Amino acid sequence: MSAPILDTELTYLPGIGPKRAELLQKELGLKTWGDLLYYFPYKHIDRSRLYRTSELTSDMPFVQIRGQFISFEQMGEGRKKRLIGHFTDGYGWVDCVWFNSQQYILKTVKLHSDYILFGRPSLFNDRINLSHPDIDPADTLVLSKMSMQPYYQTTERMKKAGMVSRTLERFTSTLIRHLPEGSIPETLPRHMLERLCMVSRDEALRAAHYPSSANGLTQANYRLKFEELFYVQLSVLRYARLRQGTIRGHVFSRVGDYFNTFYSHNLPFQLTEAQKRVIREMHADMKSGRQMNRLVQGDVGSGKTMVALMTMLIALDNGYQACIMAPTEILAEQHFATFRKMLGDMPVRVELLTGMVKGKRRKAVMEGLQTGEVQILVGTHAVIEDNVLFRNLGLVVIDEQHRFGVAQRAKLWEKNLTPPHVLVMTATPIPRTLAMTLYGDLDVSVIDELPPGRKPIQTMHMYDNNPDKLYRGINQQIQEGRQVYMVYPLVKESEKLDLKNVEAAYVHLQKIFPQYRISMVHGQMKPADKDAEMQRFVSGETQILVATTVIEVGVNVPNASVMVIQNAERFGLSQLHQLRGRVGRGASQSYCILVTKYELSSDTRRRIDIMTETNDGFEIAEADLRFRGPGDLEGTQQSGIAFDLKLANLARDGQIVQLARETASAILDEDPTLSQPQHRIMVERLRYLKRDEMDWSNIS
Ligand code: ADP
Ligand code: MG
Repeated sequence: MSAPILDTELTYLPGIGPKRAELLQKELGLKTWGDLLYYFPYKHIDRSRLYRTSELTSDMPFVQIRGQFISFEQMGEGRKKRLIGHFTDGYGWVDCVWFNSQQYILKTVKLHSDYILFGRPSLFNDRINLSHPDIDPADTLVLSKMSMQPYYQTTERMKKAGMVSRTLERFTSTLIRHLPEGSIPETLPRHMLERLCMVSRDEALRAAHYPSSANGLTQANYRLKFEELFYVQLSVLRYARLRQGTIRGHVFSRVGDYFNTFYSHNLPFQLTEAQKRVIREMHADMKSGRQMNRLVQGDVGSGKTMVALMTMLIALDNGYQACIMAPTEILAEQHFATFRKMLGDMPVRVELLTGMVKGKRRKAVMEGLQTGEVQILVGTHAVIEDNVLFRNLGLVVIDEQHRFGVAQRAKLWEKNLTPPHVLVMTATPIPRTLAMTLYGDLDVSVIDELPPGRKPIQTMHMYDNNPDKLYRGINQQIQEGRQVYMVYPLVKESEKLDLKNVEAAYVHLQKIFPQYRISMVHGQMKPADKDAEMQRFVSGETQILVATTVIEVGVNVPNASVMVIQNAERFGLSQLHQLRGRVGRGASQSYCILVTKYELSSDTRRRIDIMTETNDGFEIAEADLRFRGPGDLEGTQQSGIAFDLKLANLARDGQIVQLARETASAILDEDPTLSQPQHRIMVERLRYLKRDEMDWSNIS
């Protein structure tokens, strides 16, 4: 149980009055003792070691020295006015420098008295300087107890009010002294702790702030991270099992005329084995009587669209409607066109619903959906935002999952009493650890095979100071009948950003390639214009498409063989991979050219290297997660989960995620409803964790 003691308000802690409590709540969201305990330091610094002043060099991190101030002097004028304190420990000298709080230092710091200073050494005028060091009277600091000092993040506002890391350190140490040893209630069953050799919650929470050693800190973090991840897994898995047991799904028992006719007459190529397997897996789900919730991962170009279409035909064969949602209008229109073309003269009514479909046309589509005449709806997010009503929606396909938040998926549920089957398709493979946490309740299928005859895309890096070589390459490809994408980070010229832009490139490239025709697409164009330009490229009328990343996801022009990405240093890994996936869709050799400026940070250089080394979306996704951390990944932002993880890091703690999942799964195997007495503790913890969260049980 969550102990009432941890729900005590912060004002009941000595040293925290109403004003400070208000600041802590406003700035950090801390209200209770428990909140403060879970506000972990972002680092610890080993303060067990004292340096001699004679050892100090300017490339050392923070150091600690012990000695006395011999004199103070004020120097400089106006804003350069500073206070210098000359400090010695008998081995040498350092100068301490203050630009602020000079009067305060002069008033409180005594000459010829023992102090311990803590700061980062720098070199100035041939002398070692410590600027704004921490100062503690030597007799108040017991070094042996101060071995690992916690550092807490504070905000600008807090700093202004004098609330710095040191202040928080006082709060947490006071709090920990106030809580009798062993009084922090346990949240995991004892037998689990024993089996996994983990420290108690009481011990872990104390050590997370004040560890006795680096080892103690690791143990504490391990236990706390495990707990966090364990409860995420337990709640996700518990709901998944509940849903499997109770929520009924439409039963698609038949594979009938629509599917079979399409398969034998309309399919323009042989399905890959991977495509067949995934369709079979989904059919098994959909006839089971349970609701399907399946994530299909398939690298760019693996042929997910066809899998979606054929799965929708199974819905139609069973008398249901199906709908597919894409993240952009361009994509929705492309799917619409593809489906119409593929279905040919089959008697299937497919309609498009985007923000562009208005007036009478819109009304007709809406009516058709209600009567059931419209069998397949292709749309954008608008499909769930608006009041679109279906007669009997049996299957929803969500293309390019990472643009769709969990909450948006949940909205689908409001549309029907019996929820439709859900197929989520993603081209940005979600790394395993993230998938297990975010979509732990989805079944996963992988299309791990590309259609035959594809040649791996060749990726090259070029600096932007030599465009002639690039232009020659482009020219050669167009001569051979291919088409070229050129992607830019900006639409217009910007005063603030020194980056290439679509509009300037459009003009410039017309001069370079007067013999070719060029299309331009970006997000600030009117949808109708965007559409027309895109269409010119799709039909082959234009040879070059200059664009922003609106073409990032899903656009399919198999004849295009070159993707040039300008200012590639500005794009994240998965975005680069998505963009690259626009080529290599036909049988000819394709190229991706990453153009960057000459000076690159080491991070950017690594990103570019990864891109030139591998075409494997999974490898890239893992690397992306390591670079950016999960909080940044699209999709995780909306989901909220990544934010609730205070210590665990999905990129680094993959093994703990795995352990947490296995542990949770084993417990549910043994006791699906968590009704055994030794599991009570977990039910109570779950209830507590969900007290002001959204109701996960409404979400697939
Ligand atoms: P993605 O998985 O990135 O959405 P698409 O569905 O757009 O990929 O498919 C990419 C291209 O591959 C399309 O031109 C599609 O017609 C083609 N394609 C899909 N499946 C096959 C297949 N089994 N054999 C040959 N070409 C295929
Ligand atoms: Mg696609």
